[in-house]
Amino acid sequence: MPTNRRDFLTSALATGLTAGLVPAAAEGQFLNAPRHGLPGTLQERYAKLDAILKQPVLKRELFKDPVIIESVELLYGKKQYICRVRSKDGHEGISVSNAQQMDLVYPIFVRRIAPFFIGKDARDLDALIPAVTVYGSTYKLQSLAIWVPIATMEFAILDMLGKMANLPMSLLISDKVYNKKINVYQANGERDNSAEEVIEHLKRDVAISHAKAIKFKLGGRMSHTEYPAGRSEKLIPLVRKTFGDQMVISADANGSYTAAQAIPIGKLMQEYKYAFYEEPVPFDWYEETKQVADALEIPIAGGEQEPSTHNFRWLIANGGLSIVQQDMFYFGGMIRCMQVARMANAFGKQCIPHISSTGLGYVYMMHFISAIPNSGPYHEFKEFNNVLPYHCATSTLLSDANGAVTVPTGPGFGVDIDPDFIKKCTVLTA
Ligand SMILES: [Mg+2]
Repeated sequence: MPTNRRDFLTSALATGLTAGLVPAAAEGQFLNAPRHGLPGTLQERYAKLDAILKQPVLKRELFKDPVIIESVELLYGKKQYICRVRSKDGHEGISVSNAQQMDLVYPIFVRRIAPFFIGKDARDLDALIPAVTVYGSTYKLQSLAIWVPIATMEFAILDMLGKMANLPMSLLISDKVYNKKINVYQANGERDNSAEEVIEHLKRDVAISHAKAIKFKLGGRMSHTEYPAGRSEKLIPLVRKTFGDQMVISADANGSYTAAQAIPIGKLMQEYKYAFYEEPVPFDWYEETKQVADALEIPIAGGEQEPSTHNFRWLIANGGLSIVQQDMFYFGGMIRCMQVARMANAFGKQCIPHISSTGLGYVYMMHFISAIPNSGPYHEFKEFNNVLPYHCATSTLLSDANGAVTVPTGPGFGVDIDPDFIKKCTVLTA
């Protein structure tokens, strides 16, 4: 980003412009939020964020009458987990969970999450989500063990409410659609191979996805020891030289470094005009994340492992992250993800939500991105697995010739799972 733009943003925030007046990044640009010019005192910033956290997310006013949840079932078939929720009035919603994690944690859904929601008014979703963590002291299982099941529950409720209101789930949490299409970046998730091999694989994949942005892995993943030695230092210039100045390039260290190790890597990324630097240090090294951010100009991205809204509040108020990347499942669904996106937006920071696994979870991420004003210009595209028989009338769910995927516009989830398949699924008990 040109320096003059950063200066403008710094002065705009310093003079106290409200979140709504902070200009969005131009198309194709990642926004380097002004870490060193955060407005007000720390206490004032916390007060601003706390006011945001008090704002409702679900548009309750869309539903005049109570929507009492009568049943919640977890269905299993073809190694996939599907939640089905039904209301007393006969409305129904479906969600498709993150199978990889749900395989380990589904008893938490069946014993702790589903029973709490029976008899509750779905319109109270904003309050029900924090409340369910207290039920059975479930909060003690903090992180994806509770948030994946809670997200699964929430997505099914939003599908049901969306079908009732005849709106996509994005419009249950937002006044407008901000993004009809999602521009994708091509990710390479490899480690332990040569820089040359990564280049070959990126070339192959970009030819298929037509992506105008790339992301690849740095370091040893939660360890500085990488193989082959010096792979990251070799890749950073090589990716730029191979794909040219127009390609938007970023890289993800997955917590590989200490702050002292991370800073020189970040300086190399700056030299080659990288767009952002993801998880330079372990995700829960908050002070070190801020140290790296303070030492560099490149935006620091993070949050895919983060389970805590309060920790995002710290990272935003203290200038630790320029780009928040809460995971749609690991962070517990749309409502909590929206609270983080709003906090980020209040200080001119971007949101690039993370999605784990290769299932239909990407659809939830697309709905969420369509609902926020401060999404980043590119998002990771994970190929859909085709294990589940599904149909989407409003999108191919594939990356088009311009490297963009259309967000479904049908009611609720906007993707239908074959009812014959659902009939054959097993109802899980635990
Ligand atoms: Mg990552």
